[in-house]
Amino acid sequence: MNTCPECYSEKSRITPMYKPYECLSEHTQYVCGTCHRCICIEKDQTRGLYRWNFPFKSLEDAKLYFRTAEFVLKEPCAIYELKPDKNRSTFKIFRNKLELTNYLKRNKTIKCNKTPVFKTDKYCEYPKTEVRRLTMDEVNFYMSGR
Ligand SMILES: [Zn+2]
Ligand SMILES: [Zn+2]
Repeated sequence: MNTCPECYSEKSRITPMYKPYECLSEHTQYVCGTCHRCICIEKDQTRGLYRWNFPFKSLEDAKLYFRTAEFVLKEPCAIYELKPDKNRSTFKIFRNKLELTNYLKRNKTIKCNKTPVFKTDKYCEYPKTEVRRLTMDEVNFYMSGR
């Protein structure tokens, strides 16, 4: 399978990664207009954060949520590898290098070489993208395809 040009994944049913049934039925989804993959784009009520604002365990996982960051910000973004300690890496999506630099100032123990491990150069819109809650029929259909 080829990588989806819109959402950067080869697997069109891989997300949601966390509690997929609950996520699909209770959270707003970015529905890829190209491969129909659903990506959680629910804004946390208390802190106003999306899943993509948090660090990911792997580059692959971060890439799965990358499109929602671009879509919310309407800008190309970048993923950086962060090292909270010597033996551990996490991957986080940032709008740009300035945002990364500010983050590193607030989190002084985290190391980063400031070279993106994945980035896009230009933000594109796709005509068939939908951002909405799914119906129960759609949730069941999507889950049956996983
Ligand atoms: Zn969700
Ligand atoms: Zn896609």
